[in-house]
Amino acid sequence: MNRENTSTAPASTASLLDPFSRSISYLRLSLTDRCNLRCLYCVTEEEAEGSLCKLQHEDLLSYEEMLRVVRVAVAMGIGKLRITGGEPLIRRNVLDFIGALGAIPGLNDIRLTTNGVLFADKAEQLFAAGVGKVNFSLDSLEPERFARITGKDCWHQVWRSIEKAMAVGFTPVKLNVVAMRGVNDDEFEDFARLSQRLPLQVRFIEFMPMGASSRWNRGMYISSDAIMATISRLGELIPMERAHRDGPARVYRLGEDALGTLGFISPISHHFCDHCNRLRLTSAGALRSCLLHDEEIDLRPILRTSQDDALIRAAILQAIHNKPKGHQLEKRLRDSGGDCHGRMSRIGG
Ligand code: SAM
Repeated sequence: MNRENTSTAPASTASLLDPFSRSISYLRLSLTDRCNLRCLYCVTEEEAEGSLCKLQHEDLLSYEEMLRVVRVAVAMGIGKLRITGGEPLIRRNVLDFIGALGAIPGLNDIRLTTNGVLFADKAEQLFAAGVGKVNFSLDSLEPERFARITGKDCWHQVWRSIEKAMAVGFTPVKLNVVAMRGVNDDEFEDFARLSQRLPLQVRFIEFMPMGASSRWNRGMYISSDAIMATISRLGELIPMERAHRDGPARVYRLGEDALGTLGFISPISHHFCDHCNRLRLTSAGALRSCLLHDEEIDLRPILRTSQDDALIRAAILQAIHNKPKGHQLEKRLRDSGGDCHGRMSRIGG
């Protein structure tokens, strides 16, 4: 079981430095590009109405192929893995797969990002398999609005999952809120109050222009600073020590007595590229060193024609070598109005 696995990552960790001296230690794995929701920041209006254009089964990496890449990456020094998608919990036999991940020596930190629709009934098994930390997407506290944002009337189901995660012992439990003007900007204070009442981290994420699928426009974008200004009306935002922070979020507590925290993730206004330690493996087997940069290395030809793991190691090193210094999204938007072409569901959000 993963949490009890005390073996340490091999000494090669130090070699996973990119050309800008960032230490790469975190792999995000997209299990599938399919999803049981149609969130408005992920799909176009046409897609929300009809079916999504999805990967063919043979284009998707098999679990065995994913495990092979993860084993190689962990042996090279990757110690942290996030399972995401699409919606990872809709993939068949996902619990067996996560159990196999949990048995990989040196992989001591497995996290999950989910919409929570299918989480509650799997919570104990996920925890037992070694997933210790979970992020839920929850863009509204109002069930009807949630249904409009996601295309599905299942807010209570998701909330039950969030309560279950806290009860089972996942720590931390985080809520991802994509901040969208005209959609949920009147709920920021309610979310902030929630972080006072419950031991959750509510994270406001700046809405990013992602691929042709996004309905992003400048008018809908709200900066973290603007959200913080709104929330500050409720009380003092006390910055948390770096040790309490995790990943790209700037973390605060709203008042001394708050049980939970507030995180602000600002990929556009205060990008965190200088500290980025991530590599991504898409559900189609592409290694990607930046969410917002379309360069990828296709691992499928290696995985499907060779048993030589040295080729996978070389591809991982190449992806790390190719990692851009910063995503330059602001510049791209200024120059051309262009966005990132990759779909969030395929890359893994
Ligand atoms: N299905 C899972 C879920 O809903 O959490 C995992 C995949 S989802 C793509 C992962 C995260 O990406 C979500 O928490 C969502 O907040 C974030 N996300 C997706 N599109 C985004 C966008 N255009 N801007 C900012 N965040 C986005």
